[in-house]
Amino acid sequence: MKEDLKSMTLAEMEAAFAALGEPKFRAKQVFVWLHKGARSFDEMTNLSKPLRAKLDSLYDITAPEVARKQLSKKDGTIKYLWRLSDGNCVESVVMQYHHGNTVCISSEVGCLMGCKFCASTLGGLVRRLRPSELLDQVLFSQIDSGLPISNIVLMGIGEPLDNFDAVLRFLELVNSPDGMNIGMRHISLSTCGLVDKIKLLAEKKLQLTLSVSLHSPDNESRNKIMPINKRWNVEEVLAACKEYYEITGRRVSFEYTMISGVSDSPEQAELLAKKLSGMGAHVNMIPLNDVEETGLHTSSREAIARFQSILQSHGITATVRRTLGSDIDASCGQLRRKFEKNDQKGAADSAD
Ligand code: SF4
Repeated sequence: MKEDLKSMTLAEMEAAFAALGEPKFRAKQVFVWLHKGARSFDEMTNLSKPLRAKLDSLYDITAPEVARKQLSKKDGTIKYLWRLSDGNCVESVVMQYHHGNTVCISSEVGCLMGCKFCASTLGGLVRRLRPSELLDQVLFSQIDSGLPISNIVLMGIGEPLDNFDAVLRFLELVNSPDGMNIGMRHISLSTCGLVDKIKLLAEKKLQLTLSVSLHSPDNESRNKIMPINKRWNVEEVLAACKEYYEITGRRVSFEYTMISGVSDSPEQAELLAKKLSGMGAHVNMIPLNDVEETGLHTSSREAIARFQSILQSHGITATVRRTLGSDIDASCGQLRRKFEKNDQKGAADSAD
């Protein structure tokens, strides 16, 4: 099997090219081509034909195809379903905010974590993505949409910290001054609470934003919606977040999905405020996007407003996330799921 060239850092590429008897600057030329979205060595017109042929015999260049594309008429949000080289599909969503365009990318095909409100986990984990496949989602979202991407959130299909090494390498690649050069402070990584990996990440002292999906302040209800809570409970997750803050100096933000009758009571708001006190935490409240298979529903407007005001009365910053792309299956995993179901029925494969 040929090696995946785009997953290499520039230093690794330089070493590989030196072993082929090629000068350093050639590696940089190729690195720049790849990070501009070249799909084949033939596009690299400043390389000799023999060198292009040699590279082609040794290396693969990943480049996903658009399997589906949905554009929200309401707010311009674009959802991509990418078909990877092995036929598996993952999703990315491009959202347009005042502070710039953000892409939300997937880290795995499927997910092991089993969160009850999430469509991505319904078929389990298929495989973890390679660094190049993470980068490709940012790169080709930018190329296809024509929207310059300035922010990245790792919050799509999969648990990024379950694909730790590939994600770290991706961060290095996307941050490269010779590549997309997206600063760490413009990147958020969301985890359901893998405590061992949060500790490992803290040691790297990256300036990214760690976002933890808490979704409930008490173990009884968190156990019901997030199986990972049986491995690391609320107290253990929050202790790791405090440690992360102390080591990196970066405040942790908490994702909190508002699910009717599960996570939205005033008592839970009081408990959450108590547990987050002194952490400088920010709570991002997310009205649940309904997924038909889960049987769970979003909280009422009144319940959301009441929850937010209780948090704020205790000095916790809490914002309600604007629902973008509500007309296009924008909740993570929905499009892939729908596509697979239709595919099984032999439906035509078209972009709309
Ligand atoms: S919410 Fe995230 S961690 Fe949980 S199952 Fe879905 S993709 Fe996995």
